[in-house]
Amino acid sequence: MEHSFLAYLRGRCRKLTQVTVGIGDDAAVIEPATGQQIACVDQIIDGVDFLSGKHPLADVGYKSVAINLSDIAAMGGNPTSILVTLALPNQNSTRIAGEVYEGILEAAAEFNLAIAGGDISTYDGPLAVSVTLLGFVDRDKAFLRSNATEGDAIMVSGAVGGSIRGRHLRPVPRLDLAQRLRHSVEVTSAIDISDGLSLDLDRLCAASGVGAELDTDKIPVHKDAELLSESSGRTPFQHAWSDGEDFELLVTMSQKDADILAGQELGTPLTQIGNIVGRTGLWQRQQGKLKRLSPQGYTHESL
Ligand SMILES: [Mg+2]
Repeated sequence: MEHSFLAYLRGRCRKLTQVTVGIGDDAAVIEPATGQQIACVDQIIDGVDFLSGKHPLADVGYKSVAINLSDIAAMGGNPTSILVTLALPNQNSTRIAGEVYEGILEAAAEFNLAIAGGDISTYDGPLAVSVTLLGFVDRDKAFLRSNATEGDAIMVSGAVGGSIRGRHLRPVPRLDLAQRLRHSVEVTSAIDISDGLSLDLDRLCAASGVGAELDTDKIPVHKDAELLSESSGRTPFQHAWSDGEDFELLVTMSQKDADILAGQELGTPLTQIGNIVGRTGLWQRQQGKLKRLSPQGYTHESL
């Protein structure tokens, strides 16, 4: 199956300047990046990260690329090419590969990515899609999780919560926003929200050795969180606080930079939800009082 499928795939892949030799040789030949190379990989597995009986496989393919693009956005980088590895169940492997690749090719075309190569194998197990994404970032300009400092503004893009209603299959990586920020302010730290606003903010804070004071009523709650709350028994805020797979950006910058951005059109909404503080932990500030927030999505322990 591999030979004929790869021939088909080679015909479907556009030639792009970033990859001199793509699918069909022993390895890809890729033009060197300007600045610094960045790379990330993410694997999604049937039954763990998606359900093949429920989710269209083209969406699964699209998502496997988009979640990597979100990581590149969180680093302030530009994506250039991907390597794709499919582990296919023995049954219907060619059909499955074709459907997954429809979504991969769609994402590649949308974001001008070259498909530099990959691997396909069949086995007695569930579908697994692994995408390695290569890109570049200007030297020493990558957004790290570890540089947030006391007083920085904490900003979140878009709106969060309830992505399980469908947005999680077609996430919008915030690449353009990241580039606009990189050119207009100094981003001190960044992370993309894959496991929930509170958990990923907690990770950013842990990496920077700081904490966060939040104006929780400023957190932009997605309409999906409201709709989901009608049947979930949880509040829209709880969904916004702890649902995963929003793939929005969480960034920090000086309060001065945040104020400069306040009046600007960035293409994607960017909302300040609080400030970085020296004391570790996540805190809600309200009427001069602080309340400890749990990254699991509920509040306890008054201060
Ligand atoms: Mg990430």
